Amino acid sequence: MFGVWAPGEEVAKLTYFGIYALQHRGQEAAGIAVSDGSGVVVYKDVGLVSQVFDEPTLASLRGHLAVGHARYSTTGGNNWENAQPTIKATTSGTTIALAHNGNLVNTAELAREVAERGLDGGSDGSTTDTSLVTTLLASYPDLSVEQAALQVLPRVRGAFSFVFMDENTLYAARDAAGVRPLVLGRLERGWVVASETAALDICGASVVREVEPGELIAIDEDGLRSVRFATPDPKGCLFEYVYLARPDTTINGRNIYSARVQIGRELAKEAPVEADLVIPVPESGTPAAIGYAEASGITYGQGLLKNAYVGRTFIQPSQTIRQLGIRLKLNPLRENVRGKRIVVVDDSIVRGNTQRAIVRMLRESGALEVHVRISSPPVRWPCFYGIDFATRAELIANGLDTEGIRRAIGADSLGYISLAGLISATEQPKTRLCRACFDGEYPIALPADDMIGKHVLEGVGRRVSVGMPSVPAQVAEGGAPGPSPDHELENDEADLVASPGGGDKPHHS
Ligand code: SF4
Repeated sequence: MFGVWAPGEEVAKLTYFGIYALQHRGQEAAGIAVSDGSGVVVYKDVGLVSQVFDEPTLASLRGHLAVGHARYSTTGGNNWENAQPTIKATTSGTTIALAHNGNLVNTAELAREVAERGLDGGSDGSTTDTSLVTTLLASYPDLSVEQAALQVLPRVRGAFSFVFMDENTLYAARDAAGVRPLVLGRLERGWVVASETAALDICGASVVREVEPGELIAIDEDGLRSVRFATPDPKGCLFEYVYLARPDTTINGRNIYSARVQIGRELAKEAPVEADLVIPVPESGTPAAIGYAEASGITYGQGLLKNAYVGRTFIQPSQTIRQLGIRLKLNPLRENVRGKRIVVVDDSIVRGNTQRAIVRMLRESGALEVHVRISSPPVRWPCFYGIDFATRAELIANGLDTEGIRRAIGADSLGYISLAGLISATEQPKTRLCRACFDGEYPIALPADDMIGKHVLEGVGRRVSVGMPSVPAQVAEGGAPGPSPDHELENDEADLVASPGGGDKPHHS
């Protein structure tokens, strides 16, 4: 997510580059809302940021404030209607556009409220938690958007970093646990909010501070205002440090690259092995592999080359290409691998398909031994706060111990970093981190099973929207819905190749 308030700047272009820098956080759909003070316009479509926007489109999006979003879905399917920013008009004529990073846990409850109050919750075809929040924000025609937010935000439970706007004001809000990151930056002529500091860097903004957990910020011609809507109880996502955030981002004062190198050093201490070469699974395993090599004294090198653009195409692979599986994404450097005992460092194991394929590929390339080292503990629990891991039953570490997983992926040895080792590398106190996917301790209470999940509104939401009156919103549609990014391959190794988020890796909204 990215938001900017900057009169005199080309805000749509700034937002474009902001969400371009955040493309790793979501690759299904992209959108930008702008306002020139007289009306809010949204342009959005499924696809990558660079596919959705071109020069003429950006030039047509004029104004002094903007909100942008790059989506990977965690509630609601991937379709045009669910792309963000979501947009709703109040009956008093104000229009609200909202972008969301995270995932709510009381979506069904919010859907019920929308239904009971007779609000238009789904006539636009949306089935997301985000759209419900926008509907609720727009449901107080007698209040300012800021006042409406103070009514709605305390009732929203789960992980949310929101960036939203009306005709004149940019808003940013973060849940009381601050699960997902959100930072505030300063431009010479305005303000920026973004999911990661890397997005501030790309548009020349300086980092001011994080948006605090439980804080609502409003920015307009009167300056910046800050209000608390909830008592902060920080539980930042530990997985941001392992995989999700860019290495050049800083969260809570800790640079992500440095944290990952330190994780690798810890991993080398905790899971040593005699070997000839340490290689990363690029790109996400690279800093930890550097740390592992440094601490172990084993030479670092490349053994797998990444085809950097393969996740960025919507062309369906042919059957022949499909059968190549992992080769679409990674190719071995046989000359480096042949005849060597290899340590291959990856950031996480979710289902195990990727690692099985990598081990096989390295053996086929002549590796004498393949030792897999993982820079996070086993992922045993699903995430309900904005990372679309597999279901619990699909998580390989749910059913198998480390030896069982080693056998399943065919490695000579397998070692994970401990939870304590990982936490110490983040330099954050354990009590201020969400670790639920590793230890099952969910910091935000979860509802019953049938009231949560990616498609909760594709049951509940469709029912509540029937017959509700429609409130028109000014939406400049991004053309016909684009090609479906749901280009999952079907072979066993396909998830690494096909998924926009990096295959056997979690996804997030
Ligand atoms: S469950 Fe895991 S991925 Fe989800 S917010 Fe917590 S630490 Fe992050």
